[in-house]
Amino acid sequence: MAKAYHDHDADLSLIQAKKVAIIGYGSQGHAHALNLKDSGVDVKVGLRPGSPNEAKAKNAGLEVLPVAEAAKWADVIMLLVPDQTAAKVYKEVEPGLTAGKTLMFAHGFNIRFRTINPPADVDVSLVAPKGPGHRVREVFTEGGGVPGLVAVEQDATGNALKLALSYAKGIGCTRGGVLETTFTEETETDLFGEQAVLCGGTAALVKAGFEVLTEAGYQPELAYFEVLHELKLIVDLMYRGGLEYMRYSISDTAEWGDYVAGPRIVTPAVKDAMKGLLKDIQDGTFAKKFIEENETGRKGFERIRKEEAAHPVEKVGKDLRKSMPFLDPVEVKDGNVVK
Ligand code: NAD
Ligand code: MG
Ligand code: MG
Ligand code: MG
Ligand code: MG
Ligand code: MG
Repeated sequence: MAKAYHDHDADLSLIQAKKVAIIGYGSQGHAHALNLKDSGVDVKVGLRPGSPNEAKAKNAGLEVLPVAEAAKWADVIMLLVPDQTAAKVYKEVEPGLTAGKTLMFAHGFNIRFRTINPPADVDVSLVAPKGPGHRVREVFTEGGGVPGLVAVEQDATGNALKLALSYAKGIGCTRGGVLETTFTEETETDLFGEQAVLCGGTAALVKAGFEVLTEAGYQPELAYFEVLHELKLIVDLMYRGGLEYMRYSISDTAEWGDYVAGPRIVTPAVKDAMKGLLKDIQDGTFAKKFIEENETGRKGFERIRKEEAAHPVEKVGKDLRKSMPFLDPVEVKDGNVVK
């Protein structure tokens, strides 16, 4: 059984007694900085000079410093920059990361694959909320908390776990429950989940379903509702009560279809393919290729991103969502969200 920590297992005063630098102010960064600030923690944000996020952080009442200065000022340094950028940013952090300080992550990638090698005299820990950054902030302001994971890679002070749990309480995670893990387990399961099921698997399933219906002559608008829009409604049921509650809520026709069709789609070959993904994650093949892609100009990444954005399911979705303003639809243009 995984060891779980809740609010009463964590002492907020530990992190309140520290100076905390949040490096990066993106999805996770803004949520950690603002939640900690609301929890009475002394927080500053470390950013590149001229970062587009500087104004956002300042408008939210946070002090912004260059990365190296923030690291020097802080006792606890949380690195919340994109994983492919973290090793570069860490070089600016390193001079300020003196003995007894704590280096933190929200994902174990750079420690697990050794692109960052902190000195032995600092604590290295992880608090990974199991949800997107924007939810980490929203749920916290509503009085709840996104559950999370905690791990300690290096415990130079002997207090690494207690401090990480205190941090987790400061951002609200202990309200939802925090499970203890290792950097290796967190990294490998996180990569597998997003590749096989959450992102890779689901997106591929949606596209394939849409293509089969439209190639057979059905209207794209109907196909969109069947394979993408309704997916949220189904996942919401699973989220609240597992597969059983989803099946309780759907018709018997849909439930029987689920039982007979599921195994015809996710065949033993698909499970074998998943095992292949896991092997590539575990032996470092995935990490090596991702790092290479980033070091060689991300041409493949940008090309695929563009091709994917041009898929017909995206075009029809954009049009349909315009007539559903209550969904709070958003559009991404040139890497930015526009309403
Ligand atoms: P992000 O892409 O949203 O934001 C990164 C931020 O880093 C940018 O907004 C910018 O402020 C800053 N940045 C970029 N380059 C920089 C540089 N060279 N120097 C200084 N700052 C720079 O990133 P994210 O999705 O919040 O991911 C941060 C970490 O959190 C990653 O380790 C990720 O795996 C982890 N994580 C993310 C999520 C999520 O919801 N997105 C969930 C769990 C864990
Ligand atoms: Mg992104
Ligand atoms: Mg994840
Ligand atoms: Mg991830
Ligand atoms: Mg239906
Ligand atoms: Mg039913």
